[in-house]
Amino acid sequence: MHSDLPALQDRKGRKFPYLRLSVTDLCNFRCNYCLPDGCLDHHHSEALTVEEIRRLITAFAAVGVEKIRLTGGEPTLRQDFADIVRTIKEVPGINKLAMTTNGYKMDQRVTDWLEAGIDAINVSVDSLDPLAFELITGHNRLREILAGIQKAFDHGLPSIKVNAVAMQGINDHEIDGFLDWIRDYPVSIRFIELMQTGDNQDFFLKHHFPGKQIQALLLARGWVRKMRLADAGPAQEYCHNDYEGTIGLIMPYSKDFCNDCNRLRVTSLGQLQLCLFAESGIDLRDFLCSDDQQTALVARIRDSLRLKEDSHFLEQGWTGGTQNLSQMGG
Ligand code: SAM
Repeated sequence: MHSDLPALQDRKGRKFPYLRLSVTDLCNFRCNYCLPDGCLDHHHSEALTVEEIRRLITAFAAVGVEKIRLTGGEPTLRQDFADIVRTIKEVPGINKLAMTTNGYKMDQRVTDWLEAGIDAINVSVDSLDPLAFELITGHNRLREILAGIQKAFDHGLPSIKVNAVAMQGINDHEIDGFLDWIRDYPVSIRFIELMQTGDNQDFFLKHHFPGKQIQALLLARGWVRKMRLADAGPAQEYCHNDYEGTIGLIMPYSKDFCNDCNRLRVTSLGQLQLCLFAESGIDLRDFLCSDDQQTALVARIRDSLRLKEDSHFLEQGWTGGTQNLSQMGG
């Protein structure tokens, strides 16, 4: 396999140094905006094997992907999670391996993840109030999750991102509490605007909270927007001299959100998703059976990019084939 192949690019000239790989569609939380009844339908036992993942990542690395994020479902439900991490870290060209987790058992396992090679962690914490946290997620584990975050710092991770989905009438009154938390704590909070999916239409209409309102509040209080890096995620980053932590705003309903899209997704069954809200995926698993298929795999990835839409069309109420984000990761 060559490593001097041209980097992936779509019709719009967007480049893709960043891949989000879902390693399972199974989740053990019941977040009210995602899986309120729990994970009733999943394909955990059919997920890509470590060897298939190695081939997949090798092909993406050959066409310019440098950053991988492991997600799910809940990625740490994979018994072989540390093997997946070690395998990806050995692929030439991958220089950053991140993960997104609900933090379940993070206090017990984070040292294993870091020792295996994880470079960055996003932990979902939608509320800092234990009762509200339980109402949102169905789990009474806030204390353990916060302990897990501290343990990651103690083990040398320089920065941790916390994802919080902002929801009207549920946690929108907690913005000040989150800000107080990061005054002396170097966490980067991502306030994510609630997105409509196939399953959550009524919930979305009731609880959608525009990210612009948080942005206005930050600007009024002297927070300053930072420059965006090429392999950065979708967040607009803000910092403030009086705070150790930073804020990221993910506002998928804002104008031109998709212009900066730099990421692709692969589901736990090996389907390439050109957008979080694509109607369907493109099968790559056929090309993951042996190392001899790398050239064909790269060709399929490259050809598929012609189909990438300019926008997700979320603002028009389009949710594609995405019933919930556990299907392929956020
Ligand atoms: N289980 C992991 C976790 O909890 O972080 C990874 C998967 S989860 C689908 C990834 C992120 O998507 C989480 O931060 C979650 O809060 C966010 N998410 C899920 N559904 C969402 C929605 N409808 N709108 C906005 N964010 C959502």
